[in-house]
Amino acid sequence: MPPIISIMNFITPHKVFIQHLPHPTLASRQIELYVLRLDLIHPVVSGNKWFKLQIPLQKAIDAKTDTIATFGGAYSNHIIATAFACNAAGIKSVGVIRGERVSNLSQTLQQAESLGMQLLFIGREAYRNKAAIQQHYNDQHWHWVNEGGYSVEGAEGAKTISQWIDNSFTHVVCATGTGTTMAGLIKGVALHQTITGISVLKGHHSLRNEISALLSNTEQQHSFELIDHYHFGGYAKHPPGLITWMQELWQLYQLPTDIIYTSKLLYGVFDLVQQGHYPKNSKIMVIHSGGLQGNSSLLPGVLPF
Ligand SMILES: *Cc1c(COP(=O)(O)O)cnc(C)c1O
Repeated sequence: MPPIISIMNFITPHKVFIQHLPHPTLASRQIELYVLRLDLIHPVVSGNKWFKLQIPLQKAIDAKTDTIATFGGAYSNHIIATAFACNAAGIKSVGVIRGERVSNLSQTLQQAESLGMQLLFIGREAYRNKAAIQQHYNDQHWHWVNEGGYSVEGAEGAKTISQWIDNSFTHVVCATGTGTTMAGLIKGVALHQTITGISVLKGHHSLRNEISALLSNTEQQHSFELIDHYHFGGYAKHPPGLITWMQELWQLYQLPTDIIYTSKLLYGVFDLVQQGHYPKNSKIMVIHSGGLQGNSSLLPGVLPF
C-alpha cells in the first residue's frame, strides 16, 4: 500500500532552492558558500520539522492511532509543524505546552489551535518530567512524539534532506537543537563531507552523545564536529548585535533568518571562515532549517522581513 501521506503532497521540491552567498571574505579564501533554503518549502511548515515528522506520522496512520501528542514552548516550530501535519493527515493532535495558559496566546499557539490542536498547559516545573506527563495521559492511547522530534525516526526523516547536497560539497553546516537533523545529515551525506553543527543551547554537553544515540555503528564512523560558542547567551537569547546581523543578512542577500537558530548558524559560519576553520577551496552548504515563524515573538518592525 502506498503511503497515505507523503511529504511530496505538501512539499514541492522545485521550491527548494540553493542560494549562493558571495562575500569578499569567502572569495579571498577561495571558499564557496551556499544555503539550502528549506525555509521556502512551505508557508507554515517551513524547514526541518516536517522532515522529522514524516515517519512518526506515517507510523501513527499505519497503526490507526487517532491522536498524536507532543511537547513544546509558546513559539515552538515543532508545535506548529505537528499541528499542521496532523491536520493535513486527518489525525487529531495534542500539544503539551510549557507554562500556564495566558489570555493573549502567542501567534504560534493561536495558529496551532486553529489547526485543531488541543493545547494542554503544564507549569514549568511539572513540564520537565515528560515521562510523568505521558504516564498521566496513558489511558488515552495517544501516539507520543518527543519534544523537538528527537528520535531515530526523526533522524531517518531528516536524512532525506541530503538529497539536495551533491558530492561537490566538501562541508555541510547546520544549527542544532536536539541534534536530530544533524544526525539525519550524518546518515545521508557522503563520507568526504564534513559536518559542523552550531549548537544554539548554552552548555549542552550531552549533545554529542545524544546525536550518536541516533546513529548506527557504521554511521558513527562519519566524523562530525559540534561548535558551542555561537549561542549568543543561550537558547532564544537575541542581543541587539544578533538583530543587526539579521538585518545585514537581509540587506546583503535577501536572506531571512530566525532569532533562535539560523541567524546564529550563519553568524557562526562566517566567523569560522574568517578564523580559517575551513580550508581553501572548500564548498560549504549551510542548511537553512526554516523556523521563521519563531520571529513572531519580536515586536513588529524590529525586522525588515
Ligand atoms: C528545531 C529547529 C532546529 C533544530 O533541529 P534539531 O533537529 O532539533 O537539532 C534548527 N533550526 C530550526 C529553524 C528549527 O526550528
